[in-house]
Amino acid sequence: MIKLTKQMREDLRKAKEQDLVVCDACGSDKISEKIWIDTNSYISVDGETYYKYSDSIDDTMYWCDKCNEEAAPVHISEWEEIIRENEDAKQKS
Ligand SMILES: [Zn+2]
Repeated sequence: MIKLTKQMREDLRKAKEQDLVVCDACGSDKISEKIWIDTNSYISVDGETYYKYSDSIDDTMYWCDKCNEEAAPVHISEWEEIIRENEDAKQKS
């Protein structure tokens, strides 16, 4: 287990807000990615466990828990852009 520092807790909070990816179909943040983790390097924060990223997988896939199917995640800023464009399109029609 890795020792949790105040800096790590702060970085985690920032990452959750700024690096948020959501499902491109429904906008849900309940997205899973298939990756390798370092099984013995983890921290527990507020009841959630965070593992150290080890390596990516060549044919990685993402899963949306809400759509219950494979997803193509987008950054939260891209999702907000999609929402804005959809609303603009609605107003024009
Ligand atoms: Zn979804």
